[in-house]
Amino acid sequence: MARSRATLKTKEEPVEEQAAPPPEPLEPYVARALSPMVRRIVAPNPNLFTGPGTNTYLVGIDEVVVVDPAVDDDRHLDAIMGCGGDRIRWIAVTHTHIDHGTGAAKLAERTGAELLGFGPKDGFKPSRKIGDGHIIDSTEFRLRAIHTPGHASNHLCYLVEEERMLLSGDHINESATVVIKPPDGDMAVYLESLEKLKKLRLRSIAPGHGRLIENPGETIDWYIQHRLEREEQILSVLREVGPAKIADLVPIVYADVAEERWPIAMHTVHAHLLKLAKDGKATGRTLAGKWSAS
Ligand SMILES: [Zn+2]
Repeated sequence: MARSRATLKTKEEPVEEQAAPPPEPLEPYVARALSPMVRRIVAPNPNLFTGPGTNTYLVGIDEVVVVDPAVDDDRHLDAIMGCGGDRIRWIAVTHTHIDHGTGAAKLAERTGAELLGFGPKDGFKPSRKIGDGHIIDSTEFRLRAIHTPGHASNHLCYLVEEERMLLSGDHINESATVVIKPPDGDMAVYLESLEKLKKLRLRSIAPGHGRLIENPGETIDWYIQHRLEREEQILSVLREVGPAKIADLVPIVYADVAEERWPIAMHTVHAHLLKLAKDGKATGRTLAGKWSAS
């Protein structure tokens, strides 16, 4: 592992540290080969939610599937066309959040490719609905859809079977914290979906945001552990200060996280509390209302 160079990462927040990624640049519009079969183009939409921007992946050489065309930006779509051209046969989305699916319709128009996704939502309309176990079969690769609800109820990860590489969308991110926003986001379901991925014998994870993750097993374990620790922490803070509103819990629980992230963290705390309520450990219901430990 290239840990020695991790000290170069000075501008990032000291949160959610995982395996030190190689400090390769994540420039928009530039195609980069990650493996014999997979290329990545970063979309020009960096922000608080997307980190360095959304990753668009192209799988295959002679027949290409584009996963997450990201945003409707001409230069980004040109870069995808430049890389896949008339060999693009399928366009698939991991889920329908606007930073992943907005470019899909225009790319489908330009290529005539089939548009695949779990279902219509957020302005995205698949030409074919696909679900868990669906296989995109090409002469070079098999890409298997895996239903992974939690971040979004319609979330699919895609496994490149030959390379054991998982295109993980927003289910696992290298550089942006995964937000679980109820009611579509569900923490208990999210944890179940992480457990499901542990059985896949992965070699790498190509996330929706950030660089390639080359220690998939450790990363998934860390994700599960981190969520359970947060849950434990939320419960113990609630026992101490409750009954309390989520807005009062966040500055305590997320004291180690930049304040600009707190409004987003409210939703994730809500998701944790709903799971705790389901487990009979907390009482409450809404984002704005009061919660107490039970
Ligand atoms: Zn998302």
